[in-house]
Amino acid sequence: MARKFFVGGNWKCNGTAEEVKKIVNTLNEAQVPSQDVVEVVVSPPYVFLPLVKSTLRSDFFVAAQNCWVKKGGAFTGEVSAEMLVNLDIPWVILGHSERRAILNESSEFVGDKVAYALAQGLKVIACVGETLEEREAGSTMDVVAAQTKAIADRVTNWSNVVIAYEPVWAIGTGKVASPAQAQEVHDELRKWLAKNVSADVAATTRIIYGGSVNGGNCKELGGQADVDGFLVGGASLKPEFIDIIKAAE
Ligand code: PGA
Repeated sequence: MARKFFVGGNWKCNGTAEEVKKIVNTLNEAQVPSQDVVEVVVSPPYVFLPLVKSTLRSDFFVAAQNCWVKKGGAFTGEVSAEMLVNLDIPWVILGHSERRAILNESSEFVGDKVAYALAQGLKVIACVGETLEEREAGSTMDVVAAQTKAIADRVTNWSNVVIAYEPVWAIGTGKVASPAQAQEVHDELRKWLAKNVSADVAATTRIIYGGSVNGGNCKELGGQADVDGFLVGGASLKPEFIDIIKAAE
C-alpha cells in the first residue's frame, strides 16, 4: 500500500508574531504538489498555533510540539491533549530528542504521551533516534527499537502515527545522515514493526527522516525506498522548505 509522502516543519522555540506571519505568507503563496501527493504539517510554538492555524492555507496542517501525558488539571505550564483537540489542532510532535535530552523525558513517558494523545483523537509524529556515542558503539538499532517498543507497548491503532527517525547527531548540526544510513535504519525499523507489531502496520506506517534536511539533500534522501518524508527543523523556517515539500514529486 502506498504511503503518502509527509513533510513536517518543526519551528521549535523560534519566531516573533511578525516572523511567523512572514513564514505563513511564503507558504501560502507557494506552488507545491497537491494534497494527494504530499501531506504538509507545520509546528509553530504553542503561542502561535491559533495565529498559524487561522491564516495558513487549508491544504497544510498544524502540529503542537508537545502535550501533557494525561488529562489536564493542576499541571502548571503544561498544555493538554484535550486543549489541542478543542482548538482543532490535528497533530502533535512527541518524544523529540531535545525533550528527551533536555527535559529528561524517558521512553516510557513518551510512550504514555503518544497513547494518551492518540486516545484523545490527535495524530502523532513520534520521534526516535540515537546519539553519536550510541551510533559509534554500534547500538543504533537497539536504541531505536527500545524507543519504538515503548510506544508499541502502549499503542494498538497505528493509523494516526508517523514515526520520525531523527539521529541526534544530525539534528541542527548540518551533519545529515547519508541516504544509505537513513535507508538502513528505516528499513530495520520497518522490519522491527513487521516482527513486533504487524505486517500491515509495517507496510502502512510512514517513517520520516529528520536531521539537517535541506533543499540540497532532500531529493536523494526522499528517494530512498523506506524514507516516507521529513521532519525539518532549521530549514522549515526558510523559503527552502518549499523545495523540501517538492521533493515529494
Ligand atoms: P534540523 O532539526 O532540521 O534543524 O536538524 C530537525 C528536528 O529537530 O526535527
